[in-house]
Amino acid sequence: MKIYLDMFSSPKLLSVFLFLLSQLNCISQTTVNPQILAVNDTTFVNLKDFSQDFVYDMKYATDDNFLKSKVYDCAECYLRYKTVKALILANQRFMKKGFKIKLFDCYRPLDIQKKMWAIVPNPQYVANPSKGSIHNRGGAVDITLVDFDGKELDMGTSFDFFGKEAGHDYPDFSKEILNNRKLLRKIMGKEHFNSFDSEWWHYNLKAGLNDNVSNFKWECK
Ligand SMILES: [Zn+2]
Repeated sequence: MKIYLDMFSSPKLLSVFLFLLSQLNCISQTTVNPQILAVNDTTFVNLKDFSQDFVYDMKYATDDNFLKSKVYDCAECYLRYKTVKALILANQRFMKKGFKIKLFDCYRPLDIQKKMWAIVPNPQYVANPSKGSIHNRGGAVDITLVDFDGKELDMGTSFDFFGKEAGHDYPDFSKEILNNRKLLRKIMGKEHFNSFDSEWWHYNLKAGLNDNVSNFKWECK
């Protein structure tokens, strides 16, 4: 079965269609096989419409973040469709090893980037909205790994820890921590995500680097 969904120009219409499809029992697995869908690669989609195998801890939809401020109205993980496909494949690899991806941040509309910059106008901590970041292009995720009970693997520092200890080449951690980071980087690399030297949690889809910065916004229910 091959279904062409290019006509679903808006993510909302696409969500409604996928919901109806799931009600018809056409989708029997928890994860939609990306190969049966032909959505445009650059369309913004909601990750949860394509897989229920991710764990969410969307830090910027709460005030539990370094900004101490809730900058999203609701916690949703939107990404360009090609990023979603690659992320699902990476998650399937992790699941074979007994882990799942837990998400801290996904696509970030440019207006949200501006909001963050207004709170912390320091390029060491927040990308300057005049340039934008890969998060604004729908090609970046901030993630860690959890086991099937939801327990986070020890990565040495918390998410958004700003210090040299958050860097991939920081050597003074236990073998276990270094192996956990290595596992994350190795599998993400297999699905064509680049790591970011100074933040163990950040990954960019290589094929997303040249997409436009966007200000697409999702609706909060
Ligand atoms: Zn990031």
